[in-house]
Amino acid sequence: MQEVQVGNSRYIRDLNLTGIFRLIQKYGPISRKELAENTGYSAATITNHVKRLIDEGFVIETDKGSSTGGRRPVYLTVNPEQGYILAVDIEVKQIRILLFDLNLKVKEKLELSIEVRTAEEVLQILAEQIRSFCRQNDIKEEKIIGMGVVLPGLVDNKNGYLHFAPNLKWRDIDIKGYFEKALGYKIVVENEAKAAVLGEKELAFPDVENMVYVSINEGIGCGIIFNGSLYRGASGNAGEFGHIIIDSKGPECHCGNFGCWETLASTKYISNRYFEETGKIIPYLDLCKQAIADNEILLEIVKETARNIAIGLVNIVNSLSPEVLVIGGNILALKNYIMEDIEEILTEKALSVLKQKVELACSKLGNKAALYGIARMVFDINIEEEIIARIN
Ligand SMILES: [Zn+2]
Repeated sequence: MQEVQVGNSRYIRDLNLTGIFRLIQKYGPISRKELAENTGYSAATITNHVKRLIDEGFVIETDKGSSTGGRRPVYLTVNPEQGYILAVDIEVKQIRILLFDLNLKVKEKLELSIEVRTAEEVLQILAEQIRSFCRQNDIKEEKIIGMGVVLPGLVDNKNGYLHFAPNLKWRDIDIKGYFEKALGYKIVVENEAKAAVLGEKELAFPDVENMVYVSINEGIGCGIIFNGSLYRGASGNAGEFGHIIIDSKGPECHCGNFGCWETLASTKYISNRYFEETGKIIPYLDLCKQAIADNEILLEIVKETARNIAIGLVNIVNSLSPEVLVIGGNILALKNYIMEDIEEILTEKALSVLKQKVELACSKLGNKAALYGIARMVFDINIEEEIIARIN
């Protein structure tokens, strides 16, 4: 009995300690007084836990803060060099890696271009590159609190397993198992759009409770924030709006249906249509570099794509009524040609009561949204265990 009580009190003490650390991470630089005022903790509890966090190197004192006059109090902030998070975004033609410090600020980055290869080859190269990236930046293995991997596909987030990424042509891959073995880090795996909606919410729309992020690349992925939290649904993969059927006589989709939204509104649709019209095979991003306004065929295809994008968005607005609808992904290379049309069609076709409440926005974080989101996820999942393991 005695032991249980001791265990419980240590558990509660550790929980308070990590709770205070999270607050410093989120709101720092912050003074001890502000911490006490904004939490239920007594000044003595704050003082004790902060001392411990400082002694163990997780928190440092600084003179920067929002002084309201008088003697400047000492402010507390996270020691950014006390832990690192790796965030990896596996796209069809490239892999982007960001190294975040403990303040969730980007410290270093690495971009790899990938030719079409099997998943096994890509994962092996990636593990080697990450090892040398950490060595070059002098990041000690024991300071890495975890690595997050985002993929454009159906993911089992609980087990870190990729079911299917159609545009990568990867199927049934134990991503978490592979990297845990190859690198020894704690691994979190997430769908790209789900990680991106978390990143956008955290950094660009912190007060928004209901939002949808639509990632338009070779496919279309969506992430939903519902009443302030990521909505996963029963399967963990809610938000597959890319496969709502827009035109049942449309092109065949890899899911087996015809005329899914992503077959008519993705970046692949643009390059496919350009090939149909001109016989020229030009990758999407190269098409974006052309003088689009002077290319009548291309301009018409882009307008057509904007209409198709808007029709899918009408369905999202009518079904979920988000406060903010964010468009992200490589489609934004054409934002000057599509956003006005999309807004116009949305106003015309969505139910007006719902349309009036939604703000249409372009991703504020660009192609880093998913990386920020997954870094936050890794932090939230691992930080408690990490601090307790290092302190006790
Ligand atoms: Zn489909």
